[in-house]
Amino acid sequence: MTAAPLINLDAVPASAKPSLAGLTRDGLKAALTAAGVPEKQLRMRVGQLWSWIYVRGVTDFDQMTDVSRDLRAHLKTAYTLDRPEIVSEQISIDGTRKWLLRLAKRGHEARAPEIETVYIPESGRGTLCISSQIGCTLTCSFCHTGTQRLVRNLDAAEIVAQIMLARDRIGDWPGAAGPADGRLLPNSDRKITNVVLMGMGEPLYNFDNVRAAMEVASDGEGLSLSKRRITLSTSGVVPEIPRWGEEADTMLAISLHATNDALRDELVPINRKYPIAQLMDACRNYPGLSNARRITFEYVMLKGVNDSLAEARALVKLLAGIPAKINLIPFNPWPATRYECSDWETIERFAEVVNHAGYASPVRTPRGRDILAACGQLRSESLKLRASERRDADPA
Ligand code: SAH
Ligand code: SF4
Repeated sequence: MTAAPLINLDAVPASAKPSLAGLTRDGLKAALTAAGVPEKQLRMRVGQLWSWIYVRGVTDFDQMTDVSRDLRAHLKTAYTLDRPEIVSEQISIDGTRKWLLRLAKRGHEARAPEIETVYIPESGRGTLCISSQIGCTLTCSFCHTGTQRLVRNLDAAEIVAQIMLARDRIGDWPGAAGPADGRLLPNSDRKITNVVLMGMGEPLYNFDNVRAAMEVASDGEGLSLSKRRITLSTSGVVPEIPRWGEEADTMLAISLHATNDALRDELVPINRKYPIAQLMDACRNYPGLSNARRITFEYVMLKGVNDSLAEARALVKLLAGIPAKINLIPFNPWPATRYECSDWETIERFAEVVNHAGYASPVRTPRGRDILAACGQLRSESLKLRASERRDADPA
C-alpha cells in the first residue's frame, strides 16, 4: 500500500493531542481527514480504525497491523488512543467497581473536570452506570448531584470513553484475545452486558451527545451493546421523551419518586414544568412498549415522605396500563441532607403492595439488609463528594 500524503502535525504539543477513543464515525472521519487521509480512502480507513478501537480496544496505534506503517506514524503524531485518567478505582467485596475519572481540560476550564463511572456485576450480567453531564442543572431535593451546579455537558466521546475504560479495567474486550486463528471470542463472554445512563446529570438535557454516544455503543461492528440493554434514566424532560424514543430507541427509566404533583414538585422540581399527567402520557406513548419492553419507574424510599402504603397503592394505580417495572431504591443519605432512608420493614411492606399488583421483585431482597447496605454504599460512592470536598476531608 502506498503511503498516504499526510499533513504535518508535528507542531502539535504532545499534551494537546486529542484521543480518537470514543469518537463517532463522523468524528473519526474528520480526524483522518485532518491527518491528510485522501477522501477516497476515508471509508476504508474509518472501518479499520473502528474495528481496532471498538472491537479490539487497542490503546496503541502500532497494534493496528492492517494499517500502513506510515499512516500509523502520522496518526501517532496527531492523536492518542488515551482513555480518561483514573483518579481512583475502588473495588468492593461484591465486585462492584467505581472509578473517579479526570477528563481532559477544556480551554476555558480552570481545572480538569471529574466524573464517576460504576460497574455492578450481577449473576449473568454486568451493568455499567455512566454519567452524561458534569453536575446537573436540576435540583432534585434528595440528590447529591443536584447540589452541584452544572459544569458542562460531556461530549459523545467522553460518554463512550467511560465504557471503554471500564472494559479495559475489567478485561472485557472479547475481540482482543481471540483463538490463535484470529477469530474473535463470542460476545456472550462479555462482562458489561448493560449500560444505564444513571450517573451524574440529566441525559435528556444533553440529548445530541448522549444519542451520538449510544449510537457508537450500539454499533454492531463495534461495541455492539444492544439498545435493549441500554437504559436512559430521566427526571422527566417530557418534550424530549418521544424524540428520544424515535431517534435513539433505548430502554427508558423514569425517576418518578412521588405519585402526586405537590410532593413531586418538591422532590423533582422539573415536575412544576412537566407534571405527572404529562409525564405519564409521554410514557404511555413511548415507542415499542410491550410486556417484554417495559419502562422502569424509579422510586427512592424516603422515610415518612413518600413511603406510605397509600402511596404504594397510588403508585400501582398511576402505572396501570403502562408496561412497567418498578425499582424501589433505598435512599442513600449524604452530608446535610434532610432526608432519611425508609426502614427496611417499610420498604418490604411497600414492595409487597407493588408485588401483589404483579410487579416482580422491585427491591433486591434475596440478600436482604446486606444488599441494602451495599446499595447505599454504591449510591454514596456514585454520588460522592466533589474532589475539592474530598481533598478537604482527606489531607493526603
Ligand atoms: N438525572 C437522571 C439520571 C441520574 S440519577 C435522573 O434523575 O433520572 C439516577 C437515579 O438515582 C435517579 O432515579 C435519581 O432520582 C436517583 N437518586 C438520586 N439521588 C439519590 C439518593 N441520594 N439515593 C437514592 N437514589 C438517588
Ligand atoms: Fe439531576 Fe437526576 Fe439528581 Fe435530579 S436526580 S438532580 S435530574 S442527577
